[in-house]
Amino acid sequence: MPASTVCTPSPQSLAPSPTPPLLQGWRNGFAALGPTFFTELAPTPLPDPHWVGTSAEVGALLGLAPDWQDRSDALQVFTGNALPAGSRPLASVYSGHQFGVWAGQLGDGRAILLGETAKGQEVQLKGCGRTPYSRMGDGRAVLRSSIREFLCSEAMAALGIATTRALCVTGSPQTVQREEPETAAVVTRTAPSFIRFGHFEHFAARGQHAELRQLADYVIERYYPDCRNDANPYAALLHAVSERTAHLIAQWQAVGFCHGVMNTDNMSILGLTIDYGPFQFLDAFDPGHICNHSDHQGRYAYDRQPGVAYWNLLCLARALLPLIEDVQQVQAALDSFEPVFIESFMARLRAKLGLRQARAGDEALVDGLQRLLSAGRVDYPIFWRRLSHAVATSDFEPVRDLFADRPGFDAWLLQYQELLALDYQALAASLMLKTNPCYVLRNHLGEEAIRAAKLGDFSRVQVLQDLLARPFDERPGYAAYADFPPDWASDISISCSS
Ligand code: AMP
Ligand code: MG
Repeated sequence: MPASTVCTPSPQSLAPSPTPPLLQGWRNGFAALGPTFFTELAPTPLPDPHWVGTSAEVGALLGLAPDWQDRSDALQVFTGNALPAGSRPLASVYSGHQFGVWAGQLGDGRAILLGETAKGQEVQLKGCGRTPYSRMGDGRAVLRSSIREFLCSEAMAALGIATTRALCVTGSPQTVQREEPETAAVVTRTAPSFIRFGHFEHFAARGQHAELRQLADYVIERYYPDCRNDANPYAALLHAVSERTAHLIAQWQAVGFCHGVMNTDNMSILGLTIDYGPFQFLDAFDPGHICNHSDHQGRYAYDRQPGVAYWNLLCLARALLPLIEDVQQVQAALDSFEPVFIESFMARLRAKLGLRQARAGDEALVDGLQRLLSAGRVDYPIFWRRLSHAVATSDFEPVRDLFADRPGFDAWLLQYQELLALDYQALAASLMLKTNPCYVLRNHLGEEAIRAAKLGDFSRVQVLQDLLARPFDERPGYAAYADFPPDWASDISISCSS
């Protein structure tokens, strides 16, 4: 498939949006790379769009006018029915390893990059029609997966986890065929860059080393400028990406987030969480939990995520080898992953425990806790929230109640309290209450919001969005959102189909 085909959009799809413009001063850094990297094409319109959810915070991040959510041109633009003046829509080409196997050429099969705002945020519409990289797909996204991506991007951002952001979801009555007929939706998402490991693998696999270098130079220039000063800027880039990825996975593991499809084409070169599909926040703590029902081998199980991230970095390293030209430097860059991951993970776990300093015995404390949580399949978010309150009140009974193995818990608690006594307990509690969220996007909460949305009621999407935007603030009247999952939650089946 030539990457430079320019599709001629239909006249109505290219109709410029009314003035004053929604967004001004587009820059198109990625488009300047040239046609080997993408295909220019316009989104395919969807009939009768409506708003499903919007984020005022992301609107401000993009520099949108405050009233953008009330403007009909915004609804059209963010559904792909009109183009903002100055944008240069395109679908990029990449390749990748899926479930450990080389998949060859992939690319933006249903996402179109509109361009980059003056504030340096790329804006991408996901679900806006076929592209030359759609393969067998229809280029669409369904309402349920779009709501999940919207809510989770914003929830992750509020938890302080590096992620692509979501500006809005629009829906349309247009039918999309999945296991059953569903309706189409478009997520507008934003990030400084959507470049993936797979972009590098694409050019490396084809022996296109000039393009590989051009891409690496672009990423260094724009996003990793410190690497320019290194004797080997490409080794420095790999090193920096390894470290960012290590920090990201440490955050996932600490909060109990399972991505579900950590293919190399779903790995951001900026270390962002990207491509929300069958993700899940752990309910009960089960280290081997598999959230993706299409993942029969458990390749992307919760406790395998750090190892998979390293494997993916190996793929990136192989792709960058022609530029780095020195195997030892490649190995040195990769070697940073494990210690950074461990240090970052322990820092997060200490914060969750309210321990402000690293001390001898804290790793054993965390290991022991994970064993207890796993043996009792203890609810992960509730454990942490109750522990935070317990440290504040010195009443540990509500935490103890979560464990069937009471003697085991009591022994652990003694160990914990010894370490805690070395810190100032009131400060510990306040740190914990700002580290251990009260509200988490559990599968069943998303599912309830989706069920209502399918019936045209988006109020639950809004409630969840509001709660998850300030996940540490307990709000009166919303206790049900912080409670244990209902029995039916374990029957929710989330696959790659979206
Ligand atoms: P994902 O598993 O969502 O990361 O997607 C893997 C690849 O399949 C990417 O190249 C996507 O663009 C493409 N893809 C996924 N769903 C569709 C779809 N409905 N239509 C076209 N391409 C798709
Ligand atoms: Mg993907």
